[in-house]
Amino acid sequence: MIYLDNAATTKPLAEAFERARIYAEEKFYNPSALYSEGYAMQGELKTARSALLSKVTDESAFELIFTSCGTESDNQAIFAFARRGNAVTTTGEHSAVFAAFAELKNRGIAEPRYAPLQKDGRVDVDKLLSLVDEKTSFVSVMHVNNEIGSINDINTIAKLLKQKNPRTIFHSDGVQAYGKIPFKLCKEVDLYSVSAHKIGGLKGVGALIKRKSLVLSPYIIGGGQESGRRSGTENTFGIKQFEYAAESKFKDLKTDFERLKVYREKLWERLDKEVYARISPVEGTPYILTVSAIGLRGEILLHMANDKGLIVGTGSACSSNAKTRYSKVVLACGYDEKTADGVLRLSFSAQTTEEEIDQAAEILNEIGRDLKRRMQ
Ligand code: PLP
Repeated sequence: MIYLDNAATTKPLAEAFERARIYAEEKFYNPSALYSEGYAMQGELKTARSALLSKVTDESAFELIFTSCGTESDNQAIFAFARRGNAVTTTGEHSAVFAAFAELKNRGIAEPRYAPLQKDGRVDVDKLLSLVDEKTSFVSVMHVNNEIGSINDINTIAKLLKQKNPRTIFHSDGVQAYGKIPFKLCKEVDLYSVSAHKIGGLKGVGALIKRKSLVLSPYIIGGGQESGRRSGTENTFGIKQFEYAAESKFKDLKTDFERLKVYREKLWERLDKEVYARISPVEGTPYILTVSAIGLRGEILLHMANDKGLIVGTGSACSSNAKTRYSKVVLACGYDEKTADGVLRLSFSAQTTEEEIDQAAEILNEIGRDLKRRMQ
């Protein structure tokens, strides 16, 4: 089986799993317990926090709160900081942000405003800034788009935003960026969401990176864990496995980035252009190649590929329950419904091999030509 749906989730890294096993089997103590075994777990969490944080920020200015997933991190950020007035985001966001913005309106908290995307999937920064005024409490712009892989320059956006309204809080969903693309957060980014299972960690572990000076009202309250900002007994095994997976990912980040760029281009070169059109921009993340078999249905191709041993996606796995069958992001980029309907998302991990890329191209060409013939 060739797995090219790594933007949906990745296989947990075996080595990280083995290293963390001790926290499931032996060091299973509750970090809030007063005896030494429990207290020692606080130290383990601190090490993990610092390791995960230091990869993308200056630890003196930022802190990290563990959550259960990227969705929780996004929701925590939005519901803590969007206030009366308006809140601005983009039409390309993952549903973890998009649906939460809709909820701001439903609950009468803030008026959501949506900045359009350019054809390449990046937000139109001028239009985004034009939506920001003195009543804008919160702005959220994703770092790497999960459906087509475009990369927003969030540091520049954050700086421009603060020039326009220094009181506005800036959040970015970094779930598809963290551990995959090289970057450091600048101090104008207030909040940044990450998720373990996109980089070889486990599902059910995420984090919200936050500028230290920002006071956060918690979304989940109870026993006061995470310094009162996220209650619930910490998933120590999952957190340590996340720490080790991130260690491994960041160690090879630049070489993986360059290698996958070559693989992504190789896959694109080998695809039959009579069947597939490219959606993903060349400057986007090398971890995602989104194409469209215009006039065919991506969902049918997904099943045909599945039968031949190739697993691919059609967009966001997390939005597969949505009523619309079209890729929301591809439509938001200005493509028509026929193009959006034919979308296949091929997404890679550091474990993806060149042979898999070759075989995937063969399978995709075979099924694409086959379906096209049958549709004529
Ligand atoms: N944000 C983006 C960009 C994503 O791709 C995803 C998952 O696909 C999420 C948020 C949600 O993350 P999680 O699955 O950890 O809740």
